[in-house]
Amino acid sequence: MPAFPQAAKQELANSQLRHNLANATSTIRHKRAEVVGELDDWAQLREAGAAIKSHTLSNLDTYLERFEEAVTAAGGTVHWARDAAEANRIVVDLVRATGEREVVKVKSMATQEIELNEALQDAGIDAWETDLAELIVQLGHDTPSHILVPAIHRNRAEIREIFQQEMGKVGTPAPADLTDEPARLAEAARRHLREKFLRAKVAVSGANFAVAETGSLVVVESEGNGRMCLTLPETLISVVGIEKLVPRWQDLEVFLQLLPRSSTGERMNPYTSTWTGVTPGDGPQSFHVVLLDNGRTNALADEIGRQALRCIRCSACLNVCPVYERTGGHAYGSVYPGPIGAVLTPQLRGTTSEVDKALPYASSLCGACYDVCPVAINIPDLLVHLRTRVVEEHRGWQSKPMDALMSMASWVLGDSRRLAAAQKVASLSRRVIGRKGTIGRLPPPLSRWTDARDAPAPAEETFRTWWERNRGSDSR
Ligand code: SF4
Repeated sequence: MPAFPQAAKQELANSQLRHNLANATSTIRHKRAEVVGELDDWAQLREAGAAIKSHTLSNLDTYLERFEEAVTAAGGTVHWARDAAEANRIVVDLVRATGEREVVKVKSMATQEIELNEALQDAGIDAWETDLAELIVQLGHDTPSHILVPAIHRNRAEIREIFQQEMGKVGTPAPADLTDEPARLAEAARRHLREKFLRAKVAVSGANFAVAETGSLVVVESEGNGRMCLTLPETLISVVGIEKLVPRWQDLEVFLQLLPRSSTGERMNPYTSTWTGVTPGDGPQSFHVVLLDNGRTNALADEIGRQALRCIRCSACLNVCPVYERTGGHAYGSVYPGPIGAVLTPQLRGTTSEVDKALPYASSLCGACYDVCPVAINIPDLLVHLRTRVVEEHRGWQSKPMDALMSMASWVLGDSRRLAAAQKVASLSRRVIGRKGTIGRLPPPLSRWTDARDAPAPAEETFRTWWERNRGSDSR
């Protein structure tokens, strides 16, 4: 996977993708603005959401233990996973213990983060995504590109084609006369998924929230497929990031207002499922929660960075981001794309790889993401903080030319005569480096600037020369 600047260039050339994204994000953006505008106390709700999450994160050890006690008391089992490998091993062993060879899945970015489907496949277990958008991604042998609408980069005609070509290979085929009407596509997905829901004995889910007080998990969704996964199978395994905790049941009052309005632009989401342990004769009789760290405690240790763990994955920041809207989610090289991905992923994975250290730069720092975030994560601040970290961590021989350049810039800017001379040289340089009106590729280390930007060429005439020519040297 190339780093963001190269990947973005590739994606920008895809006009179909840009068209699909512009359509989808502008629709959700406007819906969100309308329903948020209806609430007089939105600012207070946002403050309450941020405060509850910050409080939980500051006392996470206490609330995690409380959650484990409550789950155990209700007949469930809690497993602790330090990283992706450990989490995958736990889930694979749990599925193997049931003797089953397939699972149905719903609502779990955490399982995408740890690449659970691949681990299950290696163990000879089929995993079927049941969220409609995730089903499209899976059948299309694709990867998600949006937190809430993983197939946002596909239009209806593409989805129809995927359904017709792929459904029959893994189950009930799409009807031969399938059109690209949303109702017909949804019907084809329903028929395809139904046999899987009715057959599967094991389900794997994520959770939007985990309530420490009661040991309950909460899934918020639009289609009802999640509810089928959570109620029909005999065994339910939920993979949940440790940051999903909220202390009390009552806290859901705040988040169940913030989340649907911020994500789908609805006043209330159609399905909210909550479950606590096991109930004899009702729902899954074996229930496991895998509490996933996978870099989260590293983020927690960073006093500024930890606010990214407040995220409730609403995707509002993606839908307003001018960078995301043009490049789409694949360019970020992470399960979490857009502004939140740019600050969360480098904290979870570290900043050693080319992909991860480029992420904090995948932003114009316009601040739109901060304005819409329902838990007030100051993403622009975090981006700057992480950029500093990347620079500090990678300070080596490569940064020496840049440091020398900055010292020279400081020397030039420190004296008006030096600045005037430099401006004249820059104007003359236009004939060499900026004949087309923009600066092309400069040699290293300046290429680090020009490779990612279309910079305008210096003006043919400096402002000082223009002023002297038009107003005379004594009119200052
Ligand atoms: S950072 Fe804020 S706006 Fe973005 S997905 Fe998370 S909660 Fe939503």
